[in-house]
Amino acid sequence: MILLDGRKTSNDIKEEIAKEVQEMKENGERVPHLAAVLVGSDGASLTYVGSKVKACERVGFESTLIQLPHTVSEVELLETIHDLNDNDEIDGFIVQLPLPKQINAQKVLLAVDPEKDVDGFHPTNFGKMALDMSTFIPATPFGILTLLERFKVETKGKHTVVIGRSHIVGRPMSILMGRKGFPGNSTVTLTHSYTKDIKAITLQADIIVTALGVPGFLTADMVNEDVVIIDVGITRVTDETKAKGYYITGDVDFENVSKKASYITPVPGGVGPMTIAMLLKNTLIARDRRSQSGK
Ligand code: NAP
Repeated sequence: MILLDGRKTSNDIKEEIAKEVQEMKENGERVPHLAAVLVGSDGASLTYVGSKVKACERVGFESTLIQLPHTVSEVELLETIHDLNDNDEIDGFIVQLPLPKQINAQKVLLAVDPEKDVDGFHPTNFGKMALDMSTFIPATPFGILTLLERFKVETKGKHTVVIGRSHIVGRPMSILMGRKGFPGNSTVTLTHSYTKDIKAITLQADIIVTALGVPGFLTADMVNEDVVIIDVGITRVTDETKAKGYYITGDVDFENVSKKASYITPVPGGVGPMTIAMLLKNTLIARDRRSQSGK
């Protein structure tokens, strides 16, 4: 069994990006600038945004964190987004989800300039992705593709089963694994909570991507020998014996499934760190595109 080590791979990617940024500085060029909008003070969201800002600092990017109160109105948030769209100093930005109830997340998503949409959530970018056009691939699927690529995991002609159909992970993963090229050329089955007898389907899989948020969902009796496992799930499980009062776990019974797998991502240390590295990569791409168009 080979561990798809996302921590090490993401560190390698960050080092590669840091080198590019260093060269930009030496050439007197503008460095990439990522902004993040955080509404409210939800603990998990604060942690995620904090890690993104820290990662920017580590590779030498400029970063701006805009914190808005949880009572912010939709109009105020949309104004902030328009300001970021118009700000030539900013190459890309993200709006941390989830958003409070008074805000229509879809409206917010549509307001982001697709050229600065480094999360790849705007329908223009999602459509381009589905049509094999150059675009921003959402960071988590982009991270998974990069892991498969760097570990040279064969995907051609394989049966990939994706569990979970969210717009940010499962759905794009199902499209990307079926695209022409590498990683891709897979035969894909997308499953969700209405899928009947998931076990019968996972037992036919060469590659399984779990993105449900249900700890221990995928058990050893549901997989074949030599299966490739990508565990996207991140769930905080309360545990008073831990210093933080919780531990993080994925959707896979790692201990038993890893005995049958040829490749497997750990949680933590698998897909999670890759997501942040690919957000940086998308910001670098955004900056390069904007520089080429004279901005
Ligand atoms: P989500 O919006 O939470 O939706 C969960 C999906 O799983 C839905 O499509 C749901 O089906 C499906 N599902 C739930 N229970 C199921 C069951 N028993 N059998 C089959 N399908 C089931 O998805 P998400 O936002 O992609 O998040 C999924 C997990 O990934 C969470 O733990 C999240 O924290 C984690 N995540 C990790 C990263 C990372 O960087 N590693 C990034 C994003 C998310 P229906 O559509 O039918 O409801």
